[in-house]
Amino acid sequence: MTKIPLCIPRLDGNEARYLQECVSTGFVSSVGPFVERFEKLVAESAGVARAVATASGTSALHLALIGAGVGRDDLVIVPAFTFIGTANAVAHAGAQPWIVDVAERDWNLDPVLLRTVLREETRREGARLVHLATGRRVAAIVAVYAMGEPAEMDALGEIARAFGLPLVADAAGAAGAEYRGQPLGPWADFTVFSFNGNKTVTAGGGGAIVGPDPARLAALKHVSTQARVGTEYHHDRVGYNYRMTNLQAAVGCAQMERLAEFVALKRAIRDRYDRALARTPGLKAFPRAAKGRGSGWYSGVSLDEHLPMGTKAFCEELGRLGVEARGFWKPIDQQPPYASAPASLTGVTDRFWRRIVTLPCSSSLTSEDQARVIEAVRQVAGACAASSSAAS
Ligand SMILES: *Cc1c(COP(=O)(O)O)cnc(C)c1O
Repeated sequence: MTKIPLCIPRLDGNEARYLQECVSTGFVSSVGPFVERFEKLVAESAGVARAVATASGTSALHLALIGAGVGRDDLVIVPAFTFIGTANAVAHAGAQPWIVDVAERDWNLDPVLLRTVLREETRREGARLVHLATGRRVAAIVAVYAMGEPAEMDALGEIARAFGLPLVADAAGAAGAEYRGQPLGPWADFTVFSFNGNKTVTAGGGGAIVGPDPARLAALKHVSTQARVGTEYHHDRVGYNYRMTNLQAAVGCAQMERLAEFVALKRAIRDRYDRALARTPGLKAFPRAAKGRGSGWYSGVSLDEHLPMGTKAFCEELGRLGVEARGFWKPIDQQPPYASAPASLTGVTDRFWRRIVTLPCSSSLTSEDQARVIEAVRQVAGACAASSSAAS
């Protein structure tokens, strides 16, 4: 029996043809028609005029933070529940994360908590918002769209304005998602996507930044290309080599052509799992954004706190039944590089993150394989419940 993989790319569109075109024309590096075309496709899908393609989602986040004015020794608010790349980008910008907990309701930055901690733990000194305990400047808020579900951007935008902070959205896994019926681009100063291999659409690796202000994006494009001015080896500031190559963009274009199709397939997988599994004793569906529509990036279930089996054992049992399953992001405050970063935690993330089981959700997953996954999960959860009632 072949194991059903967790989340693999689907490359049966124009990928091979576009790659061949790169090789035939010699445009394999960071100049080439696919990079421009990719930026156009990403901008269009995000509902904005311009996008900047980058080497990865993490480098896109780093650039967005630079664009937001984050600098050395600043603090940047990040949610406790996110991929390490969010916090690493803050460190790359010379700053430190201020880790704030998420809401149980959507696993995203909790606006009520955020407003409270900003009010109680900071002080305004002229143009600077200063964190009382560390004396550092608070420079930006990064909202993460966990599992591809948009955060509460209305409330977070209002808080950002009230405290004079730029708002960056880490929408790494949320390409194709919507907030209040609109694409994601306009809701933050900068919104970042990843095109890593495990995202809904991939460029092999890569990222992009979008936002409402094309001039600010043009400035980030400049920083991403070693801040080069003209062709005479003149560079007007410290820049980065964060460009996407034409090879990556070739794959990215072929994938972006199918974004809507992939998102629809992945949402359908998620809907089916939720319908079939959420009422199974011991299991809960992942939360959904109240005002948004997620990208369906990841599907899975949360194990009930009373279930006698942890995520690791649950995934191993599923593995024995031919279904690849995994836990998900370990909170940032529990990662060694950020263990001493300022943190405002309520215990929400710590309660739910260990209970997450992600399930196969590739856009290529057949209906039969989805049925196999559902059957396997029911079987493991059933055995689990039986062993707990036998034990009591
Ligand atoms: C994937 C991901 C990233 C990192 O993107 P890369 O392209 O792998 O650098 C950052 N943040 C979140 C929330 C992600 O899911």
